[in-house]
Amino acid sequence: MSDTRDDLAITEELYQFLQGNVPEGYKIAESAVPKLTADQAWTVIWFLGNLYWQVTDHIERCGVCGELYDTWAEGTCLDYGDAPYNFCEECSEGPEAEAKRASKAAEKARGER
Ligand SMILES: [Zn+2]
Repeated sequence: MSDTRDDLAITEELYQFLQGNVPEGYKIAESAVPKLTADQAWTVIWFLGNLYWQVTDHIERCGVCGELYDTWAEGTCLDYGDAPYNFCEECSEGPEAEAKRASKAAEKARGER
């Protein structure tokens, strides 16, 4: 099977599928279609990517706007303090990311880790 779609598109399809949007060409009984919330669907993808490596781990979900994005191509990870940790390209310049960078700088200035 040759699949030319990129990881972001495939992950997006799984993300939609887990929320009940079955792609064309699949026959799945209505009672078997997953109907997760966006947060639950993302938790499944995150779990697969981080613990079992069955899906790629470089697709992330922005903690501000909720969009999926490819970390190899865009976005920022600010992996400290409180959530959000992942920022898509657009949100990485937004007020949430700026506030987080500022809190890190203030922490450094106080001599904490
Ligand atoms: Zn975003």
